[in-house]
Formats: sequence, structure tokens, C-alpha cells
Amino acid sequence: EGPLSPVMRQVLQMICSTLLDKQEELNSLDRAAGDGDCGNTHAQAAKVIQEWLQDHVIPGCPGQLLSVLARLVQEKMGGSSGALYSLFLTAAAGHVTETQSNAAAWASAVHAGTQAMRRYGGADPGDRTMLDALCPAVDELMKLTTSQPGGHMAILQAAVQKATLGAEETRNLTAKAGRASYIAAERITLPDPGAVAVAAILRAVVEVLEA
Ligand code: ADP
Ligand code: MG
Ligand code: MG
Repeated sequence: EGPLSPVMRQVLQMICSTLLDKQEELNSLDRAAGDGDCGNTHAQAAKVIQEWLQDHVIPGCPGQLLSVLARLVQEKMGGSSGALYSLFLTAAAGHVTETQSNAAAWASAVHAGTQAMRRYGGADPGDRTMLDALCPAVDELMKLTTSQPGGHMAILQAAVQKATLGAEETRNLTAKAGRASYIAAERITLPDPGAVAVAAILRAVVEVLEA
């Protein structure tokens, strides 16, 4: 175990319990615009991660942990989100290869993950996807690369707010990627489930870091 391992474990546990709590909400958002399984894919990822946590030591290198998570979601999460999160985590892993990876390294990791999701998933912000929560949050998180450590918590909280707002605003967007793009825009009045999940995940991370 490395110095960050106990907090990593707590963060993952908080993400998993949040996603399990949101299973029905995400499914019903996905019923309005997709195939109704977005809560199930995220809950499946949560269960697989919880099981993995039960009988594994968290690697000292955070990148190694992200690579494990990439494999777990690739193999077990299912749906578009399984493939997209796997791309994200694989790209992010290469940026946090130091045991003592700092906030700037984590910000670069999240940035690289988001870029990979954009490049390989082919969607852009504004297309009513996870990216509409992720991209505004990343813009905020990149401030971690230049700020003093004392300002980190405010940046993290602002990133959560940006993701939450971005997710909420997807209700006004016309879907250009994923299953929702097959449904007439005026019939979708609820936010995108993947974006809502991203905001919930970020909120879970920051809740643990605040404590
Ligand atoms: P599926 O659509 O295969 O059933 P999920 O229901 O698990 O997969 O995930 C759906 C979510 O995936 C959508 O709400 C959207 O946020 C996200 N999504 C779909 N396609 C893309 C894409 N190309 N880029 C980013 N996110 C996407
Ligand atoms: Mg779905
Ligand atoms: Mg599906």
C-alpha cells in the first residue's frame, strides 16, 4: 500500500455506494432517452469494484489502480459507458504513475481521460453525453495545476458545481451521440443519465476529500 491507498479505498467505496443508491434514478432517466439500463451498468461497475476491494490491496501506484479499474469496467460494466469509462481510465492511468501523485498530476489524469473519451467516443460537449458534465469540471480542475495547495478544496468544490450544472443543463440539449440521438429532442425533457452519473461520482470523490 502507498500513502494514498486508504483515501483511495474510501473514495472508491463512496463512489460505489453513491452509484448503487442512484441505480433507479439513472435507469428512469435512461428510459426517457435510451434503453433504461444506465443505472444497471453503473451499479454493475459498483458491485464489481466493491468485490475487488474486498480481497485486494490497493496498489501504491495510483496509475496501477486506475488500470485495474479500467479492466474491471471494460469486462463487467457493459453498455456504452463501460467502454467509455475504460478508455477514460486507461488514458488517465499514465498520468499518475508516482506513488505521491499530486493534485496537478490528478488534474492532468482527468484531462487526459476526458480527451480519450472524446477522441475515441466521437462526441463533443453539447451532444448530451457524460462530456457535458465532465468537460466543464475538467476546465475547473486544470486550475489545480497552477494554484497553491491552500486553494485546492475550493477548486474541487467548484468542479463539482460545474459538473452538476452541466448535467442539469443537458435537459435542454439535442442528443447527437448515443441512443438518445435516435429520439426526437422535444420528447426528452430530462437530463442525460450518463452526465448525472458523472456529477454524482465527482461529488462522491470531493465529499471524501473534504472530510
Ligand atoms: P448504453 O447506451 O449502451 O445502454 P449506458 O446506458 O450505460 O449505455 O450509458 C449511456 C450514457 O453513455 C449516455 O447517457 C451518455 O451520457 C453516454 N454516452 C453515450 N455515447 C457517448 C459518447 N460517444 N461519448 C460520451 N458519452 C456517451
Ligand atoms: Mg443505456
Ligand atoms: Mg444498454
